[in-house]
Amino acid sequence: MLSMETIAYNLPQNHIPQTWCNILPDLPVPMAPPLHPGTLQPLGPDDLAPLFPMALIMQEVSTEREIEIPGEVRQIYAQWRPSPLMRARRLEKALDTPAHIYYKNEGVSPAGSHKLNTAVAQAWYNKQEGVRHLSTETGAGQWGSALSMACAFLGLDCKVFMVRVSYDQKPYRRALMETFGASVTASPSPFTDSGRAILAEHPDSPGSLGIAISEAVEVAAKDPGTKYALGSVLNHVLLHQTVIGQEAIEQMALAGDDPDVIIGCTGGGSNFAGLVMPFLGRKLKGKCHARIVAVEPAACPSLTKGHFAYDFGDTGHLTPLVKMHTLGSSFIPPGIHAGGLRYHGMAPLVSHVVNLGLAEATTVHQLDAFAAGIQFARAEGIVPAPEANHAVAEAIRQALEAKAEGKPRVILFNLSGHGHFDMQSYIAYQAGKLENYEYPAEEIAMALAGLPAVP
Ligand SMILES: *Cc1c(COP(=O)(O)O)cnc(C)c1O
Repeated sequence: MLSMETIAYNLPQNHIPQTWCNILPDLPVPMAPPLHPGTLQPLGPDDLAPLFPMALIMQEVSTEREIEIPGEVRQIYAQWRPSPLMRARRLEKALDTPAHIYYKNEGVSPAGSHKLNTAVAQAWYNKQEGVRHLSTETGAGQWGSALSMACAFLGLDCKVFMVRVSYDQKPYRRALMETFGASVTASPSPFTDSGRAILAEHPDSPGSLGIAISEAVEVAAKDPGTKYALGSVLNHVLLHQTVIGQEAIEQMALAGDDPDVIIGCTGGGSNFAGLVMPFLGRKLKGKCHARIVAVEPAACPSLTKGHFAYDFGDTGHLTPLVKMHTLGSSFIPPGIHAGGLRYHGMAPLVSHVVNLGLAEATTVHQLDAFAAGIQFARAEGIVPAPEANHAVAEAIRQALEAKAEGKPRVILFNLSGHGHFDMQSYIAYQAGKLENYEYPAEEIAMALAGLPAVP
């Protein structure tokens, strides 16, 4: 008899969480409220009504611990959820580590990443309130693909502003969005005031998430029939991602292991929060002892090098002010291939828990991230998205640390997406054409000098 080592901890197909898990009521200190950029007073629901449907605005500030997932959303989730929890046994062997390495594979969603968890929910709530058109931004194209697909399912039009550098690097992502029926424009574009302002100063601008957000928000603000959808950062987006962590808690129980460290890469913070918040809820009750680690690119290190301050979520200063770790809203991050991590700010909720010491943050350089992703691919057969490579790199670092200590360690990380549309960046890496970007200290200092003054 061949002895079989378990590698997959799967839940039954219909075993999808009934509710999203809201950490806000359990936080030891409440979050600072978002402010109106003109009056500097806390925002009311009506201030956000031009951009978002009321149901999502209310989720933003909800004090309910559990928020019911609509039946139709759960039904769509059932196409790829519960997502697999895998034990990376071959990677463990390759590293010769006593650590157990588990990963939650969000790359199995038809859009290729965790983003579909919130895209479906956001499209659904918009549809309930009679919205017909959604505008959005996309960095690497993952969010745009997810929202395009969700809009196709629910019969909404989708307009996507895609960061210029990704638009050029990832033509297949654009093709996928168009296949789902979305219209895709490179950002900065000549079609909005925000885009034109950037192009006037920097005709060759590679774009950034901050710029693309301004363009998408502007389109929604100017058209009463269009609302805006954001793929990360906001509380309701992070909330929708908590299906990941809730499933992972049950799957780790099936595996009979308790995580010592839980890892996610952070761009805006949503896949990280989706995995860790349900565990953090237990940690706050003394039922989980895991360290929680956010991993960001060394070239765009908001949590580790940014200021925890009120700032705009976008470059054109159309959004409310939120308190977060920020590198300054005018900072345009270097064109690293992990486009989904090129954001100047961080989810206020993630910033808040890091600020409270409930989670830690670390950085990985681009070349180390790709080296880790390739090592993972050769051991596990899954090519991670460049963003997810940052989490892989930290998981490997932790496993090697356990080896050096000669002690076991249970590591759980979020494999936020697959890299099948990112092979151009793998080609560039293997050809030795990628470089590490040093921390752009001067540009960040300049951008931080421009932080809005909030008393
Ligand atoms: C968008 C994206 C990220 C970064 O966004 P978060 O909101 O921080 O999760 C990470 N990984 C993948 C695969 C993505 O598509």
